[in-house]
Amino acid sequence: MLNDMKSHYFEHALLPDGWRQRVRVVTQAGVIESVESGIELHTEDECYDVVVPAMPNAHSHVFQRAMAGLSEFKTNKQDSFWSWRTLMYRLANEIDREQIYEIARSCYQQMLDAGYASVCEFHYVHRDLELSTDTMSMSKAVMQAAYDVGLPLTMLPVLYAYGSIGEQPLNDQQRRFGLTVEEYVSLWQQLDSVKYREQCVGICFHSLRAVNYEMMVQVLKRLPNDVPVHIHIAEQQAEIDQSLKFYGQRPVAWLYDQFDIDDRWVLVHATHLVEEEIKMISQSQAVVVLCPLTEANLGDGIFPMEKFMSQRGQWAIGSDSHIQICPAEELKTLEYSQRLSRQQRNICCDESQPHVGTWMWLQAVLGGAQASGLPVSGMLPGQKLSFITLNSDSSVIEFDRPEQCLDGYVFSDCVKSQSIQIK
Ligand SMILES: [Zn+2]
Repeated sequence: MLNDMKSHYFEHALLPDGWRQRVRVVTQAGVIESVESGIELHTEDECYDVVVPAMPNAHSHVFQRAMAGLSEFKTNKQDSFWSWRTLMYRLANEIDREQIYEIARSCYQQMLDAGYASVCEFHYVHRDLELSTDTMSMSKAVMQAAYDVGLPLTMLPVLYAYGSIGEQPLNDQQRRFGLTVEEYVSLWQQLDSVKYREQCVGICFHSLRAVNYEMMVQVLKRLPNDVPVHIHIAEQQAEIDQSLKFYGQRPVAWLYDQFDIDDRWVLVHATHLVEEEIKMISQSQAVVVLCPLTEANLGDGIFPMEKFMSQRGQWAIGSDSHIQICPAEELKTLEYSQRLSRQQRNICCDESQPHVGTWMWLQAVLGGAQASGLPVSGMLPGQKLSFITLNSDSSVIEFDRPEQCLDGYVFSDCVKSQSIQIK
């Protein structure tokens, strides 16, 4: 075998079309060359029992890891996303380039250890503490950190120009985020020219609160038309109310009226949707990124998953504020939010795949890969091989089927896992 060619044998592996037995995956420099199932073990194979592909992380604000657990105290009569944001802004205005590098390095390492395959970094702390014209160093520190730990990265420099809907000026706490279209395009091009191996650069609008129509048109016209486009949308009820007041439409409805939304687009949160918007998103093949742990932590609301699934909507998960870094916990929280609101069990699955763990894992890998624009869609030729091994941690429970093992991993604490990256 060539030097960096490796072969891996899995007793049970979750492939894009479901579980397969006796799977052999050959890689060259970490990229999959071939996947065969139902085969015999070769002597040179590295052997594993039950494995699932690592999970793309489709939404991250890495600096917020430095406040995980530090906002769980009452500051207002009615604390909400908005009072949390005040604390978050405080942090955003304290960190420098060295600090964001250290935070990102540690957070990205935790993502790898937790079984994430890659990360989409939605980055808006552009300017240094002196508010100089340097808009590049903070982004570069983040890209360097991802490269140093070996986590593939979709860098999403954010266009953030207004303080709130209706072109309100940035407030003092938002000044590090602000860019003109000219500055944004120049930053984007520079980042694209300095990106590392296993990195790509996508387009990103903070939200309809922070940009206007003309700016979006300009950016989309001047930058490549084959990279992902991310935007926060419809996360908060107050945002819907403001949009109705200013645009006369709900945010998702407005976006679809103004732009040709297709499978490049990535709608982050989209928590508050009406039926017509659910239909528009599903038909456009845009991906919705759900961040269940952060959305629960911030009290955002509950995503209408059942209706979205019935329209075959595409979705991914993101660890967003990084209150906890674990793809299985994200999926469990999403399913539990649906169970609690519907007073039913086993919502996120379908007739062809009744096991919730397997159904959710496959969907989230697929949507996450689409959102990231990186080759992280699981065990297929041309994709990067990184995976999680699963083993029963219990002398009492024995799994007859790999579906049960993955359900056990997502919903219980009786499955041990280990994250493996192939170089
Ligand atoms: Zn976000």
